[in-house]
Amino acid sequence: MNQSKRIAIIGAGYAGLSAAVELTRAGLDVTVFEASRVMGGRARVVEKDGYRLDNGQHILLGAYTETLKLLRFLKVNPKRLLSLPFVLHVPGRLTLRAANLPAPFHLAVALLRSKELTWADRFAALRLIRFLKKCDYTLNADYPVSELLDRTRQTPLLRELMWNQLCVAALNTPPEQASAQVFAHVLRDSVGASATASEMLIPRVDLTELLPVQAGIYLGMNGTVIHTACPIKRVREENGVFALEGDPAGTSRYSHVIVATAPYHVSSLLGDFAELTYLRGQIDALVHEPITTVYLAYDEHLSLPEPMIQISGSIVQWLFDKGQSTGEKGLLAGVISASGPHTELSREEIALQAHQAVEALFPRLKAPRWSQVITERRATFACRPGIIRPLPITPVKNLFLAGDYVDSPYPATIEAAVCAGLNAARQVLRTTGEDPKPA
Ligand SMILES: Cc1cc2nc3c(=O)[nH]c(=O)nc-3n(C[C@H](O)[C@H](O)[C@H](O)COP(=O)(O)OP(=O)(O)OC[C@H]3O[C@@H](n4cnc5c(N)ncnc54)[C@H](O)[C@@H]3O)c2cc1C
Repeated sequence: MNQSKRIAIIGAGYAGLSAAVELTRAGLDVTVFEASRVMGGRARVVEKDGYRLDNGQHILLGAYTETLKLLRFLKVNPKRLLSLPFVLHVPGRLTLRAANLPAPFHLAVALLRSKELTWADRFAALRLIRFLKKCDYTLNADYPVSELLDRTRQTPLLRELMWNQLCVAALNTPPEQASAQVFAHVLRDSVGASATASEMLIPRVDLTELLPVQAGIYLGMNGTVIHTACPIKRVREENGVFALEGDPAGTSRYSHVIVATAPYHVSSLLGDFAELTYLRGQIDALVHEPITTVYLAYDEHLSLPEPMIQISGSIVQWLFDKGQSTGEKGLLAGVISASGPHTELSREEIALQAHQAVEALFPRLKAPRWSQVITERRATFACRPGIIRPLPITPVKNLFLAGDYVDSPYPATIEAAVCAGLNAARQVLRTTGEDPKPA
């Protein structure tokens, strides 16, 4: 272990843990500080009434290259992710199922096979993909997704059931406010790429178990300490090294610090650095969007036609059948991304409307025996056109940022967080002269 360099990582979400694994692999002396008792941050387990739930139902994509590589490195069994070919199923309205063929035929055949689409819909979808391919998925200026849909003359059906839903699901931002450029990147690396990249991966275990626990085992076995329930209040610089207010080893000093918290926790941590005033302003200017997950427990015989379906005409946008992913039969998770009229509703009203959406699929369904509504008010930043995201390097030497909000072609996702963690770690390695180890 290189003992002359000591690295502190603040935050044990997916970004902080990715950075910790990368630096530990390189043989550096790393310490992780996590405010909560549970690792995982915005992708973590929550215990409620005997259920182990996630703070929000997540899906990953086959295009999450770095996340999947990290899971393989940590020897996470691939069966912990239920892998489904790209499918959009809106009961009674649309079924679009990718064929088991190389790109772009997997999608072309899906469009051809879908009985609900007219030729006008199919041509419009191909027009959008062709438009993006022609500019190599790089727009000459950024503008809202709704404008991209106007420019490529998307039909009302495609807008309602496909593009708007994919935009809100991926960018957590309504199409009228969402960045067409980031949406183009998402389409390039998912449905526009190989059939494997467009696969939808639903965790079969909770989100803390999926990666954080496995990362914790690896880190522990390799001498990296993780302090949980240990909020850091402030980072200070003294004679070219860093001290952390809140560090249980009060006199410890660190050669490098990676701040891997959510963006809204950065400013107070770095308030002492006058040279970071501009950066703090940039991060504080990010606007945030909520995500609500509604869990409904029904009789164990209740099962959806697919592990994940889309809902139209309800505040709930997607329904997940936990029975088909985690084995919790009869348990459904409804997802409501981004802000909208539901933001004003009480939890009881949200649970009722979610139940009504399920009842529309199963007439005369009894009320759920248990429900839980979890709203993350600042789930992700609003991914708007021309948004400015900070770089991992800061004006303070050896102080770095990691997190889903850091500069990336992707919206705030697990993959963006993992990539940002790895990037920050590689910046540290560059300054210490260690070579990143091949995965
Ligand atoms: C409800 C919901 C649904 C989502 N759905 C999806 C999805 O389907 N697919 C997808 O890819 N992404 C999804 N996301 C986004 C994804 O969860 C995030 O992008 C990702 O988890 C962010 O990871 P992070 O490490 O950057 O930040 P965080 O997860 O926020 O981690 C930061 C960590 O820092 C800790 N911390 C903060 N302050 C301090 C301090 N002072 N001292 C010590 N520790 C501190 C926090 O406790 C936290 O553990 C969803 C997010 C939410 C909330």
